[in-house]
Amino acid sequence: MSNPTQRFSRRSLLKTTLSTAAVGVASSFWADESLVAYQNNVNTNSRPSDLKITDLRVATIWKAPMICPVIRIDTNQGVYGLGEVRDGASKTYALMLKSRLLGENPCNVDKIFRKIKQFGGQSRQAGGVCGVEMALWDIAGKVYNVPVYQMLGGKFRDKIRCYADTTESPDPQVYGNRLRERRDQGFTWLKMDLGIDLMEKVPGTITAPKGASLAQGDKTQHMFTGIELTEKGVDTMVQYVATVREQVAMEIPLSADHFGHIGVNSCIRLGKALEKYNMAWLEDMIPWNYTELLKKISDAVNIPLATGEDIYLKEGFAELARAHAVDIVHPDLATSGGILETKKIGDMAQEYGVPMAMHFAGSPVSCMANVHCAAATENFLVLENHSVDVPWWSDLVAGVEKPIVNHGFITVPEKPGLGITLNDDVMKQHLMEPGYFEPTPQWDKERANDRLWS
Ligand SMILES: [Mg+2]
Repeated sequence: MSNPTQRFSRRSLLKTTLSTAAVGVASSFWADESLVAYQNNVNTNSRPSDLKITDLRVATIWKAPMICPVIRIDTNQGVYGLGEVRDGASKTYALMLKSRLLGENPCNVDKIFRKIKQFGGQSRQAGGVCGVEMALWDIAGKVYNVPVYQMLGGKFRDKIRCYADTTESPDPQVYGNRLRERRDQGFTWLKMDLGIDLMEKVPGTITAPKGASLAQGDKTQHMFTGIELTEKGVDTMVQYVATVREQVAMEIPLSADHFGHIGVNSCIRLGKALEKYNMAWLEDMIPWNYTELLKKISDAVNIPLATGEDIYLKEGFAELARAHAVDIVHPDLATSGGILETKKIGDMAQEYGVPMAMHFAGSPVSCMANVHCAAATENFLVLENHSVDVPWWSDLVAGVEKPIVNHGFITVPEKPGLGITLNDDVMKQHLMEPGYFEPTPQWDKERANDRLWS
C-alpha cells in the first residue's frame, strides 16, 4: 500500500468499523485484557514498517576505565538506538558501516547483520558490526515497545550475576585483601589476574631467552616466546592463589586470567598445581585459535579452561565446544557478533554441555546489551564488569536501577529496547575527544563492491 491517502482511508475505515463494533458487540470481547494491553502498548509515535535509518553518530568516552565509542543510530521517525563499539576499538569500525545502513529498516536486525557482518573480524575488528547490532535491537524494542530480551524469546532470570577482578599487586596479601573487598561488596564470583609479570623481580622463577618480554601486551604468541616456568615459578604463582584463597575462602568461585605468554607445558604444570585451589576457570592460557593445544591443556588439567573474548561469530566457538577443547565459552558480545549471535553461541555450546560466561569491559550501553542476552540464554554463568571502581560509570545512563551493579548483580531492565537513555551531562564530562554525536556526512557515500563471492 504505497499511496498514503489510500493507507489513511483504510485506517479510517478500520477505526470506524472498530468503533461500530465497540457499540454493538457483546462486552466480553472488549473486556479482553490482552486486547486492551495491546492497544495501550503499541507505540503510536512510530510505524515500524516505514522506519528508515537516517544517520549514525558517535561520542567516545574514556577512563570508564576503557575507551568506549558510544554510537547512536537515528531514524526518520525520531526513534534512535544506542550501541557501543568494543572497548579500545576505533569508532571508524562503526562509521564505515553508515553508508551500508542508510535507508534500511532498522527492525530487520538479522538481515542488516548479515549484510554488514563481512566487515567484522576477530577481537576489536568486530567492534563496529556488534555496536550497530546492539543499536538496531534498541530501536526495534522501542518501536514494538518490548525489552530486547523479550524479542530473543524471553528471560531465564531477572538478575544477572557479575564477576569482577581488581587491580593487581605483587604482594599476595594486598592482592588477597582487594579480592576479599570485592566479595564483601556482594560479588559471588571473583577473578584475579595471575601473570608471570608478578614474578619479574623474583629470581629463579622463569626460564626465558635473554631479552624476552614478560609483558602481557607483547605481540609474540605463547608457543613462540620460549618462556617457561621453573618449579619455583609454579610454586610462587600457586602461593599467590593460596594466599588469596585464605582471604576469600574456598566457597566462592575464583577465576584466573592473564598468565603471560608461557608455553603449553608450563600451562599444564601450573594448571595441575592449581587444582587443589579449585579455580572456577583458567582463561586464555594460549590463543583461542589453537584448538588442539587447548584440548591438550584441558585434557591434562582438572580445572575448567575458558576462552573466547577475541572470537568473532559462532563458528569459532562451535569448533572449541565440539572438540571440548574448553569447558566454558567466554564471548565478548561486542566482538562475538552482538546480541543475537551471542545467544546463538550460548545455545550452541549448551548442546555440547558447555556453559557460557561473558567477557565485558565497556560503558553501561554495551553492558545492557549483555544483560538482555544473558537474561535470554539458558546456559549463562556470569558476566564480567570492569568498572565497579569508576564512581560515575552508572551515571552515564538513566532509566535503570542504580548502582547498575548492585551487590554483584544487575537487574534486567523491563523498559523497551535496551532500557536506557544517555545522561548527556555526565557523558560530556568524560569525552575522550571533542564532539558529542556530531554529524558524520563524510561517511554517507563510503562504498566498495561488497560481494563476497562471484
Ligand atoms: Mg580475559
